[in-house]
Amino acid sequence: MRKTEIIIIGGGVIGASVAYHLTERGAKDVLILERENQHGLGSTGKATGGVRAQFETDINIKMSLYSLDFFRECDFDCGYEPRGYLFFATDRKQFDYLRRNVEKQKSLGVKAVEIIDTKAISEIVVGLNCEDITGGSFGANDGFINPLALMHGFAEKATANGAKIQTETQVTTIETRGGKIVGVETDKGKIEAEKVVLCSGAWARGLAKTAGVDLPVEPQKRQIVWAKSAKPLPANLPMVIDLGSGFHFRPATDFVNPSADDTDVLFAYPDANEKPSFDTNFDESFIPKVYEQARHRAPFLAETTIVREKCRAGLYENTPDHHAIIGGCARVENLYFCSGFSGHGVMHSPAAGRAMAEIVLDGAASFLDVSCLSLERFATGKLLHEAAFI
Ligand SMILES: Cc1cc2nc3c(=O)[nH]c(=O)nc-3n(C[C@H](O)[C@H](O)[C@H](O)COP(=O)(O)OP(=O)(O)OC[C@H]3O[C@@H](n4cnc5c(N)ncnc54)[C@H](O)[C@@H]3O)c2cc1C
Repeated sequence: MRKTEIIIIGGGVIGASVAYHLTERGAKDVLILERENQHGLGSTGKATGGVRAQFETDINIKMSLYSLDFFRECDFDCGYEPRGYLFFATDRKQFDYLRRNVEKQKSLGVKAVEIIDTKAISEIVVGLNCEDITGGSFGANDGFINPLALMHGFAEKATANGAKIQTETQVTTIETRGGKIVGVETDKGKIEAEKVVLCSGAWARGLAKTAGVDLPVEPQKRQIVWAKSAKPLPANLPMVIDLGSGFHFRPATDFVNPSADDTDVLFAYPDANEKPSFDTNFDESFIPKVYEQARHRAPFLAETTIVREKCRAGLYENTPDHHAIIGGCARVENLYFCSGFSGHGVMHSPAAGRAMAEIVLDGAASFLDVSCLSLERFATGKLLHEAAFI
């Protein structure tokens, strides 16, 4: 029977980052199992590519700070573009929330983040309807990356270091004996392993269950509308987010066939009526709903035309407190979780991959205390609180 030291289930950006960091730290026998015929077809290939340090909780801010440095300094091109993130508030309570967050972000070392007034907002996004806007926050180092380029960068380095990626292999069961990992069962047969790292995104819960563990990760459909403007969009558009409704837009980049175009835009909002499901079909009825918000917010969004073939739906992998689950497993020795990123997995993949690799190889993460992200927090009630998720 085939044997390997460490199996990673799932070849998205998280699995690739874990493999990269494991092999950078000297692990040789690392195998990624991916059920699709290529990796990146899960949520990673659907992501918008936003990266930001503008969060509420210490752990999210610290994961972002580490990851932003990584994007800036890594020796492969992940398409990092610091075009900024603009959050705007439409009432005093939201504005106070942004003020508190910016204060905390600065205290933790975030640079070039500031509270801005309505006039500054109207200058950053020329043509935005600012009538109902109270103020906002702008982080200049936030911006965009190419999720697929990042994933391929991790995967190529990992394989150059000796990791293997096996596609078209669906893991059906995580196998344990006496409370310890012994391997996995796949549709291509059994593979023995000393350690298993679960990086299967929105599909993590069902696999954890096969090892007798309840991993609270719920899939939720998130949709994105791609539209084209007849004339160039306002120059240097950042990511723009209405904190109250979650409506957001950004200049669009085709990550599969990257091209420079200043007339393409993406917009979306979190639809509160979306029930947990694995459905990834784009629903046409989302278009009029998102356009209603776009029309109110800016004439340059209202005047765009839908590019239907580029509209898409993917899955968020939500946990009850919208923070990832990173760590080992109290019930099963040598089983590890790196899942549940709740819509922030691309931007946090460098920090998450390194933390996971250090936990697997050394027992704890040395550069950042991620113990607050352990699965145990759901049993002990030590949930985190972040309201600025979109
Ligand atoms: C519309 C949308 C926009 C987003 N925008 C952003 C953004 O701007 N910034 C950001 O940081 N994040 C964003 N996200 C979230 C981000 O895409 C995810 O957090 C991230 O991709 C998670 O990576 P992953 O590797 O854990 O999951 P995935 O990319 O889903 O990878 C999991 C892999 O596991 C495989 N798999 C599943 N089950 C099995 C099995 N049984 N056996 C073998 N393989 C299996 C799947 O095929 C898949 O390839 C967005 C998500 C969506 C849907």
